[in-house]
Amino acid sequence: MERLEEYALKNNVPIMQKDGINFLCDYIKKHKVKKILELGTAIGYSAINMAKIDSSIKITTIERNSDMYKIALENIKNYQVDKQIDIIFKDAKEVDLKDKYDLIFIDAAKAQYISFFEKFKKNLNDDGVIISDNLDFHGTLLLDEDKLTKGLKGIVKKLKAYIKFLKENPEFETKFYKIGDGISVSKRRLK
Ligand code: SAH
Ligand code: MG
Repeated sequence: MERLEEYALKNNVPIMQKDGINFLCDYIKKHKVKKILELGTAIGYSAINMAKIDSSIKITTIERNSDMYKIALENIKNYQVDKQIDIIFKDAKEVDLKDKYDLIFIDAAKAQYISFFEKFKKNLNDDGVIISDNLDFHGTLLLDEDKLTKGLKGIVKKLKAYIKFLKENPEFETKFYKIGDGISVSKRRLK
């Protein structure tokens, strides 16, 4: 896994931080998660880590960038988890899935988290969980917005809106963790 971590560092690929991926994998083990949907494959680092937990785990992961997609395909072969991982080369906005998943991991374009959540919640099992990454966005949410570049300001605004959306969501209850780059865990409220 170190080879992938080095590659990501060199090429500025925003893979999960070490304690973030550990948190995610621990959750999967503890709750015996078997079927996972991931938005944002990048080089396949998080998907490979999750697949390596147990050979009974199946992952569908979506990536829109062709370079990332190609590298991820190669990596999942090299790590011998290509039978467990399906990569869909498409923009997640245009993907419609029928299957239900135990866990949906949102780690794609930060500005679209609300629409991803709304779009894919129908694919979540009743007792499933939606986990989102990068809610702290490298600490930028704590900075004075006027000090940020225009692009960053936009993302920070969207992430703040997502956090508010989660906090006020009538259907899902969310816990926030200051782990890695900020992680949330959302479950359906009991009726
Ligand atoms: N989960 C990976 C890191 C993902 S980085 C890991 O931890 O190893 C985010 C990735 O999401 C990037 O590769 C980017 O190309 C992809 N992405 C961003 N928006 C997307 C979208 N709308 N649909 C599909 N992929 C998207
Ligand atoms: Mg991330």
